[in-house]
Amino acid sequence: MSAEPRTITAQATNLSAGSSAPAGRSDALARELRLQALSEVDRDLIRLVNDPLFSRWKEQIKAIGGCANPIYLSGSTVTRNAVTGEVFSSYSTDGEPGERLAVRCRNRRASVCEPCSRLHAGDTFQLIRAGLSGGKGVPDAVRDRPRLFVTLTAPSFGPVHRVLDGDRCRPRRDDPRCEHGLRLGCGLVHTEDDPLVGLPLCPDCYDYTGHVLWHAHAGRLWDRFTTAVRRHLASAGGIPRSKLGEHLVVSFAKVAEFQRRAAIHFHAVVRLDGPDGPASSAPDWASEDLLLDAVEHAAASSFVTVPDSGAYGTERVGWGEQFDAHPIRPLPDSDIPSDAAVAGYVAKYVTKGAADTAAGLDYRVTSLEDIRAAVVNSHVRALMGTCWRLGGLAELEHLRLRAWAHGLGYRGHILTKSRRYSTTYGALREERADHRRGDTKPGDDPNTVTESAWRYAGSGYTPGAAEFAAGIAESHAQSLQLAKEAREDAQQWGEWL
Ligand SMILES: [Zn+2]
Ligand SMILES: [Zn+2]
Ligand SMILES: [Zn+2]
Repeated sequence: MSAEPRTITAQATNLSAGSSAPAGRSDALARELRLQALSEVDRDLIRLVNDPLFSRWKEQIKAIGGCANPIYLSGSTVTRNAVTGEVFSSYSTDGEPGERLAVRCRNRRASVCEPCSRLHAGDTFQLIRAGLSGGKGVPDAVRDRPRLFVTLTAPSFGPVHRVLDGDRCRPRRDDPRCEHGLRLGCGLVHTEDDPLVGLPLCPDCYDYTGHVLWHAHAGRLWDRFTTAVRRHLASAGGIPRSKLGEHLVVSFAKVAEFQRRAAIHFHAVVRLDGPDGPASSAPDWASEDLLLDAVEHAAASSFVTVPDSGAYGTERVGWGEQFDAHPIRPLPDSDIPSDAAVAGYVAKYVTKGAADTAAGLDYRVTSLEDIRAAVVNSHVRALMGTCWRLGGLAELEHLRLRAWAHGLGYRGHILTKSRRYSTTYGALREERADHRRGDTKPGDDPNTVTESAWRYAGSGYTPGAAEFAAGIAESHAQSLQLAKEAREDAQQWGEWL
């Protein structure tokens, strides 16, 4: 892919040389015919490379890593002395290609923008790992604190087909049937790519209302869980709940993931610090074992009551029985996840959208017709349909189920973290920007003022530009991979020497 735009560039240069030389009518005709034989993409590429500002355009696209769907901004920034008005630095898009500057789309989903999703995954890795191993402004001592990797799931809403490592799905000797006449068991051995996996054995028996209501309250259920963890710790330490912060701080970072049955579950890093956050350690009584007790107890006892409705009666939302909590170790140790493994797992997950996991769509639906036309399996369509139906009930209006039908009613973020877990995406971006401009931040001086005026000036690429940007993204990815391999090699040599 990366070689392709270069070949075309060479071709285009020949053509452009032809156009600037004094040419006879037949030459011009031949050139016209050659141009016509080219694809739309190639013609656009030729236009692009013949643009006098092409090299500046290329610099812009390189600077955004070949983002697949850039945003363009027009405007200026001027930094001057607040008293004398002397200008220290200024930048304006006057003179830039199209008088605009390309910035990254910053989409986290690989299906939307591969280069930005890679960057986002890298930032997520740094963000999660800093909370486990230190760095990025977080003290290294966090690696000695009680830390757990916790998995919380939704309860069962009815049996679904499943992959059981070569075992049969749901073997039943007596072959019982449900009230709809469908089998309650399944003797098949499913593989991961079987489209049946995750689908209910009987859609009519499946509790679609319960599933959607669970998604709609999962965020609040998580809040109840964290409150219950803190309450458990407070009572174990004999401290009033309101005074817990004077003794310790509980930090969380969690990622939401869709399972094959299209129900989300959460993976979370939980860490105990002293009252000053990462810089201080928790009192001795606040041990890893006590934290394990606290999360187990909180998972079993937290629930949310759903508003009553004539449509379904009374519902209560709680966690499923599949609960898991492991201590995290700094380095890999048999079954126990390491800092890097946990960070890598979370980072990999944030690049996936609902559509990548076949659990919903990456765009909003605005009608029942959209739901009927969506390219999803029958189970996901039934869940979206349930969102639409329940979304029409006045008592559930606050859940905005229709607006979130594409996410199957779940309206939370994919990644959330408590304030003191580690650094932020914003700080990581800032650090990268500082790196680029050589650590000079004019805004730090109290005697300077910065005036900025920017406006949106479009987005996306023409067909040829998209091709070129994809080539830049590809070579960027290759050099990142080479750098990573070189680092790993160096590390291995370090271990042997
Ligand atoms: Zn992008
Ligand atoms: Zn099955
Ligand atoms: Zn049934």
